[in-house]
Amino acid sequence: MITFDVITIFPEFVKAFSQESLLKKAQEKKLLKINVHNLRDWATDPHKKVDDKPFGGGLGMVFKIEPLYEAVQDIRKSFRSQASGSRPKVSKTKVILFTPRGKKFTQQKAEELVKNKRLIFICGRYEGIDERVAKHIADEELSIGDYVLMGGEIPAMAVIETIARLIPGVVGKPTFLKERRLGVKSGQKQGFLEYPQYTRPEIFSPRLAGGRAKKGVVWRVPKVLLSGDHKKIEEWKREQGRVICK
Ligand code: SAM
Repeated sequence: MITFDVITIFPEFVKAFSQESLLKKAQEKKLLKINVHNLRDWATDPHKKVDDKPFGGGLGMVFKIEPLYEAVQDIRKSFRSQASGSRPKVSKTKVILFTPRGKKFTQQKAEELVKNKRLIFICGRYEGIDERVAKHIADEELSIGDYVLMGGEIPAMAVIETIARLIPGVVGKPTFLKERRLGVKSGQKQGFLEYPQYTRPEIFSPRLAGGRAKKGVVWRVPKVLLSGDHKKIEEWKREQGRVICK
């Protein structure tokens, strides 16, 4: 089982996400666990402040190192006490810091991260995080794309969902991952084949404001998908799809 520990100043946001749909079921089935931690629990001042002004001036506030250091230490300690006397597998734990300056998160990275037992995610806010966290506490810095969000919670959730899909039994039947990967080699690439999908009705007619059908406009499901010819359907999926690389 893989455990995610998310450190954030908006725990309710991440808790709500972790208690819905397939992630909720996956936790009930003990396929994964999501612990959400409020960074303010490690603040030492009476106002639970976790940020301060940046040295050298700058636009906004910056997360301080002390609460994050203490949070990561305590979470690591909790693993050890749960390891019931056996030596903790430090190599199977990773601390990830989310920043738009990080390495781009990809499917390949998800395949790598799913091999860990514990993943500690640090979600920034404001103008960012004291750089000593990246240098001395985090094992990796990850970005989910070349744009700047308000916080690291959405990146953490995106990464959790991507990794969770790789755990057998989380999405669909336990054989889902195998089926999706079957015959996915395309040249030298290997990974998930993602292709367009259709469902009923076979023909859809868009309507005008008054409810009348738009004359001569019909949106059809590609004929090949209705043909029952599995070989042709597989070819079509490969032509139309894209291999999300492993
Ligand atoms: N100047 C900061 C930096 O370089 O990290 C960006 C601050 S951003 C407004 C606040 C927080 O949102 C960051 O600390 C980071 O945790 C998160 N964040 C924003 N965009 C992100 C992205 N594309 N990928 C990952 N995390 C992101």
